[in-house]
Amino acid sequence: MDYDVIVIGAGHNSLVTAAYAARAGYRVAVFEKRHLVGGAVSTEEVVSGYRFDYGGSAHILIRMTPIVQELELERYGLQYLELDPLFHCSDGETPWFVWRDLNKTAHELDKIFPGQGEAYQRFVQDWTPFAKSVNEAFLTAPNPLDLGKHLVWGSGMQKDWQQKLTHIMRPYGEVAKEYFSEERVRAPLTWMAAQSGPPPTETMSAPFLLWHPLYHVGGVARPRGGSGGLTLALKRAVEAHGGQIFLSAPIKDILTEGERAVGVRLQDGDVYTARAVVSGTHVLQTVDALPADKVPELARQVRTGNGFGMVLRLALKGKVQYRKHHEPESRVGLGLLIKNEQQLLKAYGEYLSGEPTSDPPIIAMSFSSIDDSLAPPDGEVLWLWAQYYPFKLARGTWAERSTEARDAILNAFEHYAPGTREQIVGELVQTPQWLHDNLGLRSGNVMHLEMGMDQMFAMRPFLGASEYRWPTLKNLYLTGASTHPGGGIMGASGRNTARTLLKDLSRSPKSRR
Ligand SMILES: Cc1cc2nc3c(=O)[nH]c(=O)nc-3n(C[C@H](O)[C@H](O)[C@H](O)COP(=O)(O)OP(=O)(O)OC[C@H]3O[C@@H](n4cnc5c(N)ncnc54)[C@H](O)[C@@H]3O)c2cc1C
Repeated sequence: MDYDVIVIGAGHNSLVTAAYAARAGYRVAVFEKRHLVGGAVSTEEVVSGYRFDYGGSAHILIRMTPIVQELELERYGLQYLELDPLFHCSDGETPWFVWRDLNKTAHELDKIFPGQGEAYQRFVQDWTPFAKSVNEAFLTAPNPLDLGKHLVWGSGMQKDWQQKLTHIMRPYGEVAKEYFSEERVRAPLTWMAAQSGPPPTETMSAPFLLWHPLYHVGGVARPRGGSGGLTLALKRAVEAHGGQIFLSAPIKDILTEGERAVGVRLQDGDVYTARAVVSGTHVLQTVDALPADKVPELARQVRTGNGFGMVLRLALKGKVQYRKHHEPESRVGLGLLIKNEQQLLKAYGEYLSGEPTSDPPIIAMSFSSIDDSLAPPDGEVLWLWAQYYPFKLARGTWAERSTEARDAILNAFEHYAPGTREQIVGELVQTPQWLHDNLGLRSGNVMHLEMGMDQMFAMRPFLGASEYRWPTLKNLYLTGASTHPGGGIMGASGRNTARTLLKDLSRSPKSRR
């Protein structure tokens, strides 16, 4: 069978590329290894009556893109539910909220921690132009020469760029200290910045914190029915434009002729040809599917890291009951639950020594509070994301140590909501090994590759492959978290790839429908 475009994998980035190509009139086929679309953005009824996300849950970055509108995803069933408050922050004793409304957030903060609301306003004001520039950079194919323009000389940065650049190069833990004197404000913001993987001590990691102002711009949202609502809408969009999606159809090889990619061979031996092949899997999976002589050495040297997060997904027979937090708002947004900055650093220290952390900070998510399709009327889904967890352990295997790590997460959460343990009726424990085995996230890294500055922008996945074209083969394109701008539910990579692909295809307009 012959197509214009074959897409490998049905992660959300792949589906975004496929949807743009199908809309442009090309004959598109998507081949996905698993039995459902979405990869790390998928949802299923894992416990009877309870729907669990398998991967990402907080839809933040995609809201800063035009993808939902351009692909008319609401027409195909996507319904975003807004979270407000966006976050509830707590050390267990003194909770506070980040609302969508900046002034409301600052006003409440000042009442609880005098002076910190004003600091919060200043922080957001100082870094909004930078954050917007980074977002613009995310929405274009990375070019080393453009980087300075976007990051340093982007909108509003001209006058004080030297001072701003100094901050951008710093570890985010340090920048947080420069703005906030109160640790109970600093620690949750730092914990949120830690979500991409690099620790608060890493040089040049400040952008993970400096992005924070955009939470007040784009908000935080959830597709009704679970995260998979996004990828189901994308699937419908692809199919509505004549594209075909094959499930339980793993690709074994990318076929080449001379210096061109010409198609794929499935694991069952079936062969499909196309004018262009787009690989949206982990870049090391692409490497495995190619003939050895078509793989540049740099492609083998990418840093996947050593895991970093794990999730305990719980089905509860009752609602979450926090000890000190206000109800019901505390069950709505992401719970940034961290006792103090030391807790995060200690967790990172244990991780470096090859040990699962014994007392993790937690992001608590109980989205059945705003979406009644996720749990029975009296029940709740409670998903606890925790850091840090090495994929390769210094001692034992994940099969042996999963229960210990699961119990440590639950113990840590009981500090905030005692009695949760008695409410559990079902669960899924997603260790780094589980993520590796079930979602193809090598070494359990939910961002595919480490998000250090050495692997961002034009260096992602490796220098020479940054504009979504495979350097040694014509007609082979890359998309997904392994490419710029990296992991997270954003779709920007998928959209950027589509632009490169459609430009190339339009130069030889042979076979549109
Ligand atoms: C537990 C967890 C929590 C997260 N939380 C958040 C969050 O709250 N917010 C956020 O923004 N991000 C979050 N993330 C990160 C985010 O979900 C991912 O970075 C992102 O979804 C990656 O999408 P992708 O399309 O690039 O690739 P993937 O989702 O990795 O898709 C790749 C696809 O390729 C398929 N595939 C692999 N090999 C083959 C083959 N041989 N043949 C055919 N198909 C193949 C896979 O099955 C998969 O469907 C989280 C991730 C995880 C795992």
